Amino acid sequence: MTRLVTFADGTTVPALGQGTWELGDDPAWRDEEQQALARGIDLGMTLIDTAELYGDGRSERLVGEVIAGRRDEVFLVSKVRPENASEMKMMLACEKSLERLGVERLDLYLLHWEGNVPLEETVEAFRDLVDEGMIARWGVSNLDLRAMEQLMEIEGGEDCAANQLLYNLASRGVEFDLFPWMQARDMPMMAYSPLGRGELLEQPLIRDIANRHSASPAQVALAAVLRHDGVIAIPKASSVEHVEANADALEIQFDLEDLERLDEAFQAPNHAVPLDII
Ligand code: NAP
Repeated sequence: MTRLVTFADGTTVPALGQGTWELGDDPAWRDEEQQALARGIDLGMTLIDTAELYGDGRSERLVGEVIAGRRDEVFLVSKVRPENASEMKMMLACEKSLERLGVERLDLYLLHWEGNVPLEETVEAFRDLVDEGMIARWGVSNLDLRAMEQLMEIEGGEDCAANQLLYNLASRGVEFDLFPWMQARDMPMMAYSPLGRGELLEQPLIRDIANRHSASPAQVALAAVLRHDGVIAIPKASSVEHVEANADALEIQFDLEDLERLDEAFQAPNHAVPLDII
């Protein structure tokens, strides 16, 4: 089953994409990781998330090898390190990412987190890259509600296409205020670590609900994240087996009892909480 998420500019992407943190780090796993990512593209998980930070460029290189010859099939997301998010440095950082990825343009370029460069300057640098045709659109990651409101005050800030945030069953703080604020602006949330880095998969309740649906814990964790409109989940999987399982996550239809049990065990806060970050 394919579910789409629409950006404010009307561009659609699959709700289920692929993360790549730590992919490409170990040469012994390279072939398997490439096969996994390629299988994910075959199965429609065509949004791929990477970053210049990951393995100091190794993740981008691995992605580049996988998408060689099939650039048009993927929606490519990468991230700039905060220290490179200035007018002086961003263009070179982006050029290097494009080179490692073997592409001429990114579909989405994110500020990885807010550092010392003023957001005004980062927005200017993003706009230059759009003008140069090096990126189609830009967004942010790990920005809390206060920072997002500040961003909207900046000229051009309203062009921010997405905010990539830690979001999974064990980390639901954004449901209280930040995510509704984003939904009101047609700004998708890219949910990172949707499997809790694998830790959620050991939770007895998640395993129990998975058994009820003849599904796997990873599928339950992903389906729980994807039940909300405007969420793009980017699980990282290093094997074809894991990718194939994840691709079927949207087949799960939770009933009321499942949802009540999940919400009781993994409660969303009823007040504002600081943003969770990895
Ligand atoms: P994650 O996707 O929540 O979990 C990855 C773990 O789950 C890996 O150990 C993986 O094992 C395992 N897994 C995946 N599919 C599985 C399946 N079907 N069955 C069993 N285990 C499965 O963690 P993440 O990598 O932290 O987050 C996903 C992506 O979000 C990252 O790769 C990155 O692209 C992005 N991210 C962004 C930020 C940010 O600051 N913006 C921070 C963190 C992550 P295998 O590898 O063995 O398959």
